[in-house]
Amino acid sequence: MQNIFIIYTGGTIGMVQDKETGTFVPFDFELIARNLPDLARLNYKLTVHSFTPIIDSSNMRPSIWVEMAQIIKDNYEQYDGFVILHGSDTMSFSASILSFMLEGLQKPVILSGSQLPIGEIRTDARENMMTALEIASAKENGKSIIQEVCILFDNKLFRGNRSFKYHSSKFEAFRSPNYPVLAEAGIHINYNRDALLDNSGKEFILHTELDNRVGVLKLFPGISEETTRTILSADVRSIVMETFGSGNTMTDPWFLDLLADTIRGGKNIIDISQCKVGSVELGRYETSQGLKALGVTNGYDMTFESAVTKLMYLQGQLKDQAEVAYWVEQSIRGEITIND
Ligand code: ASP
Repeated sequence: MQNIFIIYTGGTIGMVQDKETGTFVPFDFELIARNLPDLARLNYKLTVHSFTPIIDSSNMRPSIWVEMAQIIKDNYEQYDGFVILHGSDTMSFSASILSFMLEGLQKPVILSGSQLPIGEIRTDARENMMTALEIASAKENGKSIIQEVCILFDNKLFRGNRSFKYHSSKFEAFRSPNYPVLAEAGIHINYNRDALLDNSGKEFILHTELDNRVGVLKLFPGISEETTRTILSADVRSIVMETFGSGNTMTDPWFLDLLADTIRGGKNIIDISQCKVGSVELGRYETSQGLKALGVTNGYDMTFESAVTKLMYLQGQLKDQAEVAYWVEQSIRGEITIND
């Protein structure tokens, strides 16, 4: 019998419609259990920890990530796997940060939820939850097949730190175009063995220090000098700069001077692309050639969710800005593909 730990944080999966306003509001785990009588028939021992309060994931925050990661650490030895029920809106942020906080993970941590509440006739919650449980308990030769933080949605298993929510209403709500799907569930669950992390032999370490002094500069043609300066002068340690195409920016002197001043002032600027597929390639075009020389950090093919949370994690561990920038450019949990 497998021992699975379920962490219920909230999200649509367990929501009910408020009779007066018609909006969806979080409800307790009893609702899920009542609508899933099959849970009792499973050959698993399930333990449920419900957060108080349970939330719509738009209210997710670092203190809750720390609580989640700590619960996993405290129960790590006694359980075979972990399923986190979570709203889909910020699920990729939570999956990304947990991947960084849980170093050397050798058991599955599977985040899942649904687009329709579990009480609705056409709900996707049942399938998502049952498949998540099956993957969280899957073992081979005594070892967990999945040894990382993943998202299970609509029969696909994604590496958490490579995923993002791309559709607000389809059941197929997540994608990870820069990394292969880790498993697909049909009649069988087919694992993409070559794509999985194998952490065997590594030490499992929990990191709970996070530093959220991170800013975002999303470029668009016509962004003013004043707006750019205001964003770059925010009280943060690092700025994720969402650039065009393969990492390109305007080449106006005022813009490049602002970047240079910001970096000289001790902030990191991380270049990731507004494109959802592909990677930053500094120097491919004239419009990105100078960025490296200015000291801009290459975010390669990282998702926005991964870049922001990786910075929170690294800044929590490291005082030195240059060290943070160095580790941004390394793959530490399979979140990045280095192509040069
Ligand atoms: N707003 C909800 C949430 O993220 C959406 C969902 O669960 O799919 O909590």
